[in-house]
Amino acid sequence: MKETCIGCHSSHSIVQVASEPLAVLAARAGCALEASIVRCAGSEDQTLGHLEVQAAHDVKELLRTALERGAQAKAEGAPPLCPVCRQKLTRLSADHPRTFQTRYGAITVKRTRGYCKRCRKWRVPGDTALGLEEGAGHSPAVQETAALLASKMPVEEASAVFEHLTGMKMPRATLDRQARRQGERAQALRTQWDQQARQAQAQMELTLEPYQMIIQMDAWNIRERDHWGQSAARRRRGQEPERWHWVYTGTVFRLDQRGQTAGGRPVISERGFVATRQGIDALREQLHAEALRRGLGQAAGALVIADGAAWIWRLADDRFPEARQRLDFYHAVQHLASVGRALFGEDKEKYRSWLKPLVKQLKNQSAVKVIHQLQEALDQMPAGDPAQTVAKEIAYFQEHQSRMDYRAGRRAAEPIGSGPVEATCRQTQCRFKRPGQFWSQRGDEALLCLEMFWRNKRWHLLFPHTSFNPARN
Ligand SMILES: [Zn+2]
Repeated sequence: MKETCIGCHSSHSIVQVASEPLAVLAARAGCALEASIVRCAGSEDQTLGHLEVQAAHDVKELLRTALERGAQAKAEGAPPLCPVCRQKLTRLSADHPRTFQTRYGAITVKRTRGYCKRCRKWRVPGDTALGLEEGAGHSPAVQETAALLASKMPVEEASAVFEHLTGMKMPRATLDRQARRQGERAQALRTQWDQQARQAQAQMELTLEPYQMIIQMDAWNIRERDHWGQSAARRRRGQEPERWHWVYTGTVFRLDQRGQTAGGRPVISERGFVATRQGIDALREQLHAEALRRGLGQAAGALVIADGAAWIWRLADDRFPEARQRLDFYHAVQHLASVGRALFGEDKEKYRSWLKPLVKQLKNQSAVKVIHQLQEALDQMPAGDPAQTVAKEIAYFQEHQSRMDYRAGRRAAEPIGSGPVEATCRQTQCRFKRPGQFWSQRGDEALLCLEMFWRNKRWHLLFPHTSFNPARN
């Protein structure tokens, strides 16, 4: 194969380049860089940006060759043991080539293959040493970039951005597959981690620390392609194709880790996130493990804040039985407003002057007083739809009365609203609810899981090379 050498701009065989010492390639790259500097300096229409792009190009072959040799040395250094059970491999044969894409271009590594009698499988220990899963055509750093982009934007866009940033082509389907593969790996890791959190909890001597753990939950829906292409047939059978499904979301943080910016905006320095498409039970277990990791076991107390959805309080009773429960203040206000509309209809003035003191009372005094006033208002109403609305809302306030301790909450400087989890839902929805986007449950869960690894600042657990600091090496 003939190719133009990026160093000396002449044609010679790649095989010849590969056999040259890195120092020679480095010298050639150095010459190319010098030439690029001169060219950029002498050209009126080139900026530093042009030089940045050119310099990366000038050293690419040097880096690619270094990676190829490094990968070869690493593969050769791997002992002939089964990477799964550590049994000595038999029927060893060398020189099995495998080509994959790295950040700096394609490289080919020759590896040794052997048979594991215990696992009854052919194994390639070199691949494990290199961090390459079976069938992966991309290096770990390329896999990571693909997973990150695909979890942040629609796959079509991700493919274009990927090419723009790396100069490598990755078709949509490949990128999609890559992201799912990484997402499924993330799911397996999450399961293992959640289990560890529960075990560690069981073994831990608990010393209570004077902080409160805040737990919030909410749900939003997502559009999926579960009966894609069969809609007409299903409708004929009288089955409406279900396209919208719930994504259950939760967030946990310690109250003492909530502060304020200089501008007075509330910020939470350490916060755990959970989002799952696998139902309420999955949320319950994942959220519990996340809360344990964030210090639930040592917390002096816990507080669940959410809107009025029944599933939330059932989950809280079930998994966080010791936690206090608080209804999101703004949801309570919406219910007050609904009474106001039933009482005053279109009379905005009366509505406002009725609502304002009640909202204040709910916030600063007690729910009992508010309920009492609603009851009085109802007693004076004629029978009819508005009266029914008011009666329904009174029942709502009575049901949640014990969850409306806003005065005590404010005195203890605790949150009275579920703003943080609602913000989390909004942010995740932005990614998952774009026009024309359909998902499958499997794909959803994988991508949600990737997104949560990123948000929880655990990306490095999935891609250990990302926490590697070359300056300290
Ligand atoms: Zn084995």
